Amino acid sequence: MRPPCIAVLGGSFDPVHNGHVALGAYFIRLLVPDELRVIPAGNPWQKQELQASGPDRVEMVRCAFGKQPVPVTIDRQEIRRHTATYTIDTLRALRTELGPQASIALLIGADQLQQLDSWREWRQLFDYAHICAASRPGFALDAGHVPEPVAREFARRAGTPEQLRTTPHGLTYLATNLAVDISATEIRAALQRGDRPESLVPHAVLDYIEQHHLYKS
Ligand code: ATP
Repeated sequence: MRPPCIAVLGGSFDPVHNGHVALGAYFIRLLVPDELRVIPAGNPWQKQELQASGPDRVEMVRCAFGKQPVPVTIDRQEIRRHTATYTIDTLRALRTELGPQASIALLIGADQLQQLDSWREWRQLFDYAHICAASRPGFALDAGHVPEPVAREFARRAGTPEQLRTTPHGLTYLATNLAVDISATEIRAALQRGDRPESLVPHAVLDYIEQHHLYKS
């Protein structure tokens, strides 16, 4: 039996939206992983305080990823951690949990690719996982926008979906054809105005937000 392939989608998910679902679905189609592991952040070090609680964000993620062709698990490890969260720590924990042979593919959007070199121990991320980045409107992927060391590392390590699926870590994949112009920031603003952003958020998530009176203030 071949070792498992786990796609990992981390984020604030404050709230989870159709851009996150599209990012996950894109790489589910491409990699056909054995599992999509969604990891809501506890205390993101580059962001201001989150508005929704950890348990609410977990529940919204559950609503959003209900119908996928592969099993989706929600990993609370970052929410449980009391100290600041760094992706490198999460990947180390995942590697310990899943063993040396499992393929671990970290999924990120272009905004994160543009600042990957500011992540703690960013070069060491490749010792634990592959990194798959996808385009996102407003965040260009060209040389002027992706830092040169990141672009070089991405080009040098580029792999095919099959290579990513069958090796444990160290490769990259750049998907340039995702174009979902949605951010959690604009959704929070819309909800605060009293709008119902139906086209931006899965219906079940909107229902949860309304039932629990989230993002009102
Ligand atoms: P905020 O507006 O609060 O900064 P966000 O919409 O960027 O939030 P996050 O939870 O920070 O959402 O994103 C989690 C991950 O999903 C990141 O890797 C991010 O790049 C990616 N992502 C978020 N929105 C999109 C999108 N529309 N298209 C592609 N990737 C996305």
